[in-house]
Amino acid sequence: MEEKILVVDDSKAIRTLVKRKLEDELPMIVETAEDLRSTQELLEGHNRDYLMAVADLNLPDAPNGEVVDYISSKGVPSVVLTGNFDEKVRKKLYSKNIIDYLVKEGHRDLDLIVQTVKRLRSNQDYKILVVDDSRFSRRYVTKLLLRQHYRVVEAENGQDACEVIDREGDINLVITDFDMPEMDGFELIGRLRRKYGKDSIAIIGLSAREDDYLTAKFIKLGANDFLNKPFGIEEFYCRVSQNLELVELIQKIKDASNTDYLTKLFNRRYFFDSGSRNFNRAVKEGKSIALAMFDIDHFKNINDTYGHDGGDLALVEVASLLKRSFRPGDVVARFGGEEFCVLMLDVTALDAHRKLEQIRKDISNMTLHIDGRDFALTTSVGLATEADETLAQLIKTADERLYTAKQTGRNRVVATG
Ligand code: GH3
Ligand code: MG
Ligand code: MG
Repeated sequence: MEEKILVVDDSKAIRTLVKRKLEDELPMIVETAEDLRSTQELLEGHNRDYLMAVADLNLPDAPNGEVVDYISSKGVPSVVLTGNFDEKVRKKLYSKNIIDYLVKEGHRDLDLIVQTVKRLRSNQDYKILVVDDSRFSRRYVTKLLLRQHYRVVEAENGQDACEVIDREGDINLVITDFDMPEMDGFELIGRLRRKYGKDSIAIIGLSAREDDYLTAKFIKLGANDFLNKPFGIEEFYCRVSQNLELVELIQKIKDASNTDYLTKLFNRRYFFDSGSRNFNRAVKEGKSIALAMFDIDHFKNINDTYGHDGGDLALVEVASLLKRSFRPGDVVARFGGEEFCVLMLDVTALDAHRKLEQIRKDISNMTLHIDGRDFALTTSVGLATEADETLAQLIKTADERLYTAKQTGRNRVVATG
């Protein structure tokens, strides 16, 4: 079902424009009302249909925010639009079931409303874990987060939290208290950071104790941020969204530095990072390893005949076939220009050879299309499976065999010699 939101504003221009923009850009239905009376007509009996409302605080038949009280009483969370704004209004608003407020400025109102609705919708993509032994405290934080449409899970102490994080597998932010039985906030953060970096989970520490040392220790152990209880609701929301944004940003930068822009395969840098990790683990566990080096044949000719775009297309297609062909645990990387390197784990020399032979054949059977022309290509492959060699030696061996494959006619796999 499409999500429904309600926009209440006495300005016809705002109603029309917000409706048009939101419905154009998001899969949602926007219904509008111009005053309290028509809001009541829409909501009476249908309040469950609405994801949220955007409501003007001052309406002709409700000059003092009565419409927000009404919407709130129907259990629908709202974003409040207000013209005049002071500390009293702010305090009053946050005591109600409101998600956020926007101060009207005229020219930017439309963008602000649309941005806010979009942000609240995307909050549903985040899962936050609230860790606190006090049920009251936990429920309070959870309530605030749910109001902003985040997904929330709870844990009573550090031990419980570790289990929840492993079980859920997709927690983006942990908000944790300090004093807790079984395992306190410090120990929890220490444990989490050994397993999850700042590119996967953000941590905000909470405590009611007035203690500078506590804040510093939280951060030193790996928390991203800290809040003293009691905290202002608005500050709380700002920190939550800012820390979530940061995780995403770090993740993006990390992804970009590990992947090849054109083919989206891992790059050489990542291959060496993860390669040595995988290699060492496999050696320790006594598992076999195979290393293959692929190189597209006469790639210069492809570039010369079909242009640089034709060459790029060939790289993208070969990369995607390689990615599909190997197991998820294998590491497939673009090593340089038209050269690809694959680290296969837990595979016998014979199976690796068979697999590469099949892939070589699959590549030679592909037909690529560029500017109304069709073309095909082949690859040469070198394979190294020597159990007593280091990763660097395996790469060198595979490279030498690739050279032999080129020398002896191309479009072949060389696995010995
Ligand atoms: P061989 O069969 O011996 O491997 O010959 P080859 O032509 O494939 O090999 P060579 O190393 O002589 O040429 C590789 C070419 O790949 C040269 C370079 O301009 C081109 N190249 C490198 N990176 C890219 C890229 O990202 N896109 C495109 N289109 N071409 C690239
Ligand atoms: Mg080549
Ligand atoms: Mg080459």
